[in-house]
Amino acid sequence: MKNNQFLFLLVLTYFALGFVNIHFAILGLICMILPFILLFRNRKKTWCQGYCPRASLLSTTGKLTSKLSLKTPAFFIQGKIKWIMLIYFGISLTFITMTTIRVGLGFSPALEYLRFLIVIPLPFEMPQLITFERLPAWLTHLSYRFYSMMMTTTFIGVILSLVYKPRTWCTICPISTISGEYIKYTR
Ligand code: SF4
Repeated sequence: MKNNQFLFLLVLTYFALGFVNIHFAILGLICMILPFILLFRNRKKTWCQGYCPRASLLSTTGKLTSKLSLKTPAFFIQGKIKWIMLIYFGISLTFITMTTIRVGLGFSPALEYLRFLIVIPLPFEMPQLITFERLPAWLTHLSYRFYSMMMTTTFIGVILSLVYKPRTWCTICPISTISGEYIKYTR
């Protein structure tokens, strides 16, 4: 099965919606839950092979430099980078969960700005075209953190797609790594 070439529009819509209202960032959870539902049902990477909007985006951006692109280095495919990325993913999710709980319990204020790679704050405020009244602070915090994680991984993926083969990110994508291990151990 081949990824639909226009699925990348969903990624662009997702990031655009963050400027309409940051709480739409929670929709990104769909892209984290659906791959595993399909994996547990089919015991193969159904999401990666046919439905991933990010893969469609990377295939599209990769075309921009296809004549100049370098071969994906072997250490991406066989080395430790995918495990480093998985650890980053785990730390990110732990950080998001713990800080959201702290905000929910009133121990700390919501961080209402974006961060790159968990710790680097971006020096601008996101415009919000519409506001939702009376949403809990923890939900706002969770939304900014989730958007930040999606932005970071998408940015890295796009840079890799421009330098190397379009879907180089897929060789180190945490969802692919977890799926691969699941398939290996349930054979
Ligand atoms: S490896 Fe990651 S980015 Fe690539 S298709 Fe699968 S989920 Fe999407």
